[in-house]
Amino acid sequence: MSQHSSRRVVIVGASLGGLRTAEALRAAGFEEPITLVGEEPGLPYDRPPLSKQVLAGAWSPDDVTLCGKADLDALDVDQRLGCRATAVEEGRVILGSGESVPFSDLVIATGVAARRLPDQPDGERIHVLRTLDDSIRLRDHLRRSRSLVVVGGGFIGAEVAAVARGQGLDVTMVEVLPTPFARALGTEVGQRCAQLHLDHDTRIIVNALVTKFEESDGGARVTLGDGRVLEADCVLVGVGTSPNTRWLSGLGVDFSDGVPCDEGGRVDGRENVFAVGDVAAWHSPTYGHRHRVEHWTSAGEQARTVAHNLAGKPPRRNAVQAPYFWSDQYGTKLQLVGRPDLAERVRILEVPDKPGSVVGTFWRSSRIVAAVTFGAPVVLARYRPLVTAMASEEDVRATESRLALWPVR
Ligand SMILES: Cc1cc2nc3c(=O)[nH]c(=O)nc-3n(C[C@H](O)[C@H](O)[C@H](O)COP(=O)(O)OP(=O)(O)OC[C@H]3O[C@@H](n4cnc5c(N)ncnc54)[C@H](O)[C@@H]3O)c2cc1C
Repeated sequence: MSQHSSRRVVIVGASLGGLRTAEALRAAGFEEPITLVGEEPGLPYDRPPLSKQVLAGAWSPDDVTLCGKADLDALDVDQRLGCRATAVEEGRVILGSGESVPFSDLVIATGVAARRLPDQPDGERIHVLRTLDDSIRLRDHLRRSRSLVVVGGGFIGAEVAAVARGQGLDVTMVEVLPTPFARALGTEVGQRCAQLHLDHDTRIIVNALVTKFEESDGGARVTLGDGRVLEADCVLVGVGTSPNTRWLSGLGVDFSDGVPCDEGGRVDGRENVFAVGDVAAWHSPTYGHRHRVEHWTSAGEQARTVAHNLAGKPPRRNAVQAPYFWSDQYGTKLQLVGRPDLAERVRILEVPDKPGSVVGTFWRSSRIVAAVTFGAPVVLARYRPLVTAMASEEDVRATESRLALWPVR
């Protein structure tokens, strides 16, 4: 390691994207100083189990750490855990303590925060789920509860509903749109996902706007726009996220939907600033526009790409061009590759000899742009290269006939 280096990479956000960037830099032979700044005090941890195994009580907090203390120490990075970055000014990151850390290169990996509804109280009974502390608090509350209202028909709400039903709670999901999951999966596939919940006796109320929350010792009350009042022991609000960019106002970049980056992760107009993970909106050469992807796999791939570029290797574009996501609900693995939001039409196919297993394929101008499977990981693996290549209908149908997939209609 050089003693008087003029380079120092400062990574802000010590979770998946930030940690993987530091690891990949060292793996690429980068020997200059690295500082890792993270608001959360403990070791970096993985978030997907927070709404699955940790919430269900099957895994303990120790099971979700992304690296051990010894592994982190072995990276030889200046660790600033439990420190919030509050601003960026002229080549320095300012910390909450008032201290400032100079950088030659900055990597923004600050992720997103759970969005809250207007007038949502921060009480004992009304939860959001983003951090390990959130998960443990919700886990403990579910154990003491007999009923749950989930506000928001998205993946976090869906997984919490599934865990709570598994524990015998009476569960009601409230969605503002006509179909839950429609934002992520479109209406037709969203209905399939909703059916999975109905099949497990989760009640679903659609077209319902929450107008008021109330809490008392006896329980929580959620009032809907039509005057209906839902009472429950516990409430989970899962209504999306907002990128953690407020501390970046000094960069003078438009952060209206995350940090705008080119296809190698470099922030617009900033030669020495990069962004990875949920906070970053990378340009996609495949889709021809910028898009923020809140998926575990993308954060790791972007971290490796940025580390490669920072380590002075020949410039590399993001290796992942078709985003990949999974979700576990009632023992069914839902997997998604690609961009359903770009689709003009959808086809649903049945998987032979696997009752209840279906594939939804999403199409734009006779090219496949996304595929989602319910309980069919092997089938998803066959679609992945097709979606990445935005393959033609002819090529996709050839694969489907080899897999003996049959259109539902
Ligand atoms: C409950 C849950 C379940 C999920 N399940 C899945 C799943 O099944 N499949 C899937 O593909 N993805 C899933 N995800 C998404 C996945 O976890 C994220 O894509 C991934 O965590 C992104 O990593 P990141 O490093 O970009 O952001 P984060 O993991 O959010 O990390 C950002 C870090 O930056 C810190 N930070 C923020 N602001 C500051 C600041 N100013 N100064 C210092 N530090 C700061 C935060 O405290 C945090 O530790 C899930 C997410 C959650 C919350």
